[in-house]
Amino acid sequence: MRSKLVAGNWKLNGSLAANEALLRSLIRNIPANAAACAVCAPYPYLAQVRELLQGSAIAWGSQDVSRHDKGAYTGDVSAQMVAEFGCRYAIVGHSERRTLFGDTDAIVVEKYAAARRSGLTPIFCIGETLEEREAGATEKVLERQVRALLEKTGAREVAAGVVAYEPVWAIGTGKTATAVQAQEAHAFVRALVASKDGGVARDLRILYGGSVKASNAKELFSMPDVDGGLVGGASLVADEFAAIWLAAT
Ligand code: PEP
Repeated sequence: MRSKLVAGNWKLNGSLAANEALLRSLIRNIPANAAACAVCAPYPYLAQVRELLQGSAIAWGSQDVSRHDKGAYTGDVSAQMVAEFGCRYAIVGHSERRTLFGDTDAIVVEKYAAARRSGLTPIFCIGETLEEREAGATEKVLERQVRALLEKTGAREVAAGVVAYEPVWAIGTGKTATAVQAQEAHAFVRALVASKDGGVARDLRILYGGSVKASNAKELFSMPDVDGGLVGGASLVADEFAAIWLAAT
């Protein structure tokens, strides 16, 4: 039986003071019987996040990892390094990494495997651009992205991660997919995984991401194949993120 997860993606935001205020406020507002929750912070803040969150109901993660374990890769941060700071999750394949930093399907799959080698739960992001949606290519794009992972790692490894469907046109734009659009995409992804392994598909968490807010979270999370959210902008606002978390609880 799947349970819900709400994960915050802070992106390139935060400061020691702002993080502390945000996390202290979240800790004060942990809902009773809370759904699973995590925040994915910039690398330099992982030690601070660990200090503030350890022992709480909130897990933490990184926003990316290197596909390499070690070596001459200046600027990269390995999965093992973030695991040492207590990360449970690592986002891989976020559309900003794909479009701004050149992460191809193959690189994203390598990052997924690197995260798994260090015992992390990858949050594997997929999603179509506006042009792709308007061209009727949404399913083709999702299929390409998911098959890249399924074929390289096998369905069992996919079961160890979380998928996040994030239509690129909805990220940071204020435009949210309708609950029906999200459900259609999630059901399509689940069916794709089911074509390899029905049990894995049934248990796989598929999050929706793209301008999730307190005002739309409940409706999105009520869809049968939407197992929570990956939340960008709203995860930086304590009351807003707490309300989204509550909507998943
Ligand atoms: C994200 O960064 O993954 C995201 C979904 O951003 P936002 O919620 O701001 O659209």
